[in-house]
Amino acid sequence: MDLSIKMFSDIPSVVRHHWNAGNINWPMGIYITLVHVVGLVGVAKLVECSKETLMWAFLLWPISGFGITVGVHRLWSHRSYSASFPVRFFLMLCNSIANQGSIYHWARDHRVHHKYSETDADPHNAMRGFFFAHMGWLYLKKHPEVIRAGKELDFSDLHEDPVVMFQKKLDPWFALYMCFVFPAQIAVRFWGESFWPAFFVAGGLRYMIVLHFTWFVNSAAHLYGDHPYDVVSYPSENTYVSFFAVGEGWHNWHHKYPFDYAASEFGISSQFNPSKLFIDILATVGLVWGRKRGTAAWDMGRARRERDREAGVPLPKPTPRPWEAISAIKQE
Ligand SMILES: [Zn+2]
Ligand SMILES: [Zn+2]
Repeated sequence: MDLSIKMFSDIPSVVRHHWNAGNINWPMGIYITLVHVVGLVGVAKLVECSKETLMWAFLLWPISGFGITVGVHRLWSHRSYSASFPVRFFLMLCNSIANQGSIYHWARDHRVHHKYSETDADPHNAMRGFFFAHMGWLYLKKHPEVIRAGKELDFSDLHEDPVVMFQKKLDPWFALYMCFVFPAQIAVRFWGESFWPAFFVAGGLRYMIVLHFTWFVNSAAHLYGDHPYDVVSYPSENTYVSFFAVGEGWHNWHHKYPFDYAASEFGISSQFNPSKLFIDILATVGLVWGRKRGTAAWDMGRARRERDREAGVPLPKPTPRPWEAISAIKQE
């Protein structure tokens, strides 16, 4: 198991190694640390907030979550459906409240993540352990392979979308405003909340929590769960991550069929997926269209697997997880 005492006791030597190698990304590292300080101040401010502000902070979880899942992930990174201008603009606003870097940069890193999963070119390579895949990668300079891979892929579709380029031009100031200040302004304007408690709770604390929910997709959903669609890949079906990441933890399916707008095999009645529900509602009223599914491809894959099984061909062996690989080396 990767989340071990050893993982934590190794932290000083890992930090020393990266310090000596000059690998630390100081601006991002300081920013992410500050985010956690602001989030913890938010915990202390919870008692000063009205119930309307607490409800607003709670609602901002799916609102900013959809900016990631429905917006930058399923629409802009994977083009799994097409969306009208009003929907793209709305999703860009939601994405700015989530404040995880511009749509352009997020989609670029994400396409690289899919093409080079679990290699040096993967920005949050889960082979380097839970903490690195979760948030450690933000504390370090990018591996040269990640930079090389980012230059090699095509992002012309992102350049052609004025909504994406508008947000990129205002980055990071617009996202910082939408993440921290805008939620507080709404609370002050509509139910007379004091500015700072709303800033720290609906802004800072909610932001810190949703960041971790997203990061769990890269850490937990790349390390723990089932692999019904592709046994050799790391990404897994993780129910808990799906709950926190508003439907984004069905990750074995997603890495097998990244063009699928549902990012899962089944409908919302059997797999928690409010992001799919939201896209379906938008499609019903004609605001999005061209929703792609991976189910036909999986029907063929499953039939092939069935034929192999009948012919006595064994399923490929799952790749060892990092902790298994380490213990295998020790045993040799
Ligand atoms: Zn992934
Ligand atoms: Zn993806």
